[in-house]
Amino acid sequence: MTSAPRQDPAAVEAEVREKIHLEILKRTGAYHANDHVLLPSGHHTSEYIEKTLVTTEPSFTEGLGAVIAKHFAPWPIDVVLSTGHGALILSHCVARAHPSRPIAVYGIKRVVGGKRRVTLPAEFRRLIREGTKVLLVEDLVSSGRTLKLLIHLVERHGGQVVGVGCLWRRTSVVVDDTPVFSLVSRDFPTYAPEQCPLCQKGVPLNEEFVRRQHHRRPSSVQEPKPS
Ligand SMILES: [Zn+2]
Repeated sequence: MTSAPRQDPAAVEAEVREKIHLEILKRTGAYHANDHVLLPSGHHTSEYIEKTLVTTEPSFTEGLGAVIAKHFAPWPIDVVLSTGHGALILSHCVARAHPSRPIAVYGIKRVVGGKRRVTLPAEFRRLIREGTKVLLVEDLVSSGRTLKLLIHLVERHGGQVVGVGCLWRRTSVVVDDTPVFSLVSRDFPTYAPEQCPLCQKGVPLNEEFVRRQHHRRPSSVQEPKPS
């Protein structure tokens, strides 16, 4: 007897859900597909997310926050912790919708002695202590570095990270031992200019996003010069 290859219904459902979430991000104007984009690294890609636009539609952010809250509803949570403007807006929506009625606090990112760090404002420090159950919320996870800093921060205060909820995660990011729930898990290929198929097809290169990042940079920060 032969059996046709069957798709796992849960996997199909997850795929459909991911498509819906991607469509929502598209409607905020944050998600660009079928483009030819110059990245800050100098590589080229066909897809791009404008992080700042992701949380600009309150009703979308609330809806997406509620989906993350629902996923983590079976776990008691005391604190929702995030860092960065977009993540903070989303974390408020997650905390609002979670049945444990957790509080929402944020860490502050800074560079100390050339190293990236996340610290808690003094007023929040007593809120994460021995045994506090913490849900981390991020908007986009692209390198996983911020998440690792947040996990260390919680552990330093004796708290326990229950999980990570985010809107978008690059599938190559691995966070050890911490369950990650992402509304969209997606990795798109990036190319060195000389190997870029879009360049070879003669598609015009969109340099807009890199230009904007340059403008945003404080003037006191100098680009490292090649020695
Ligand atoms: Zn190219």
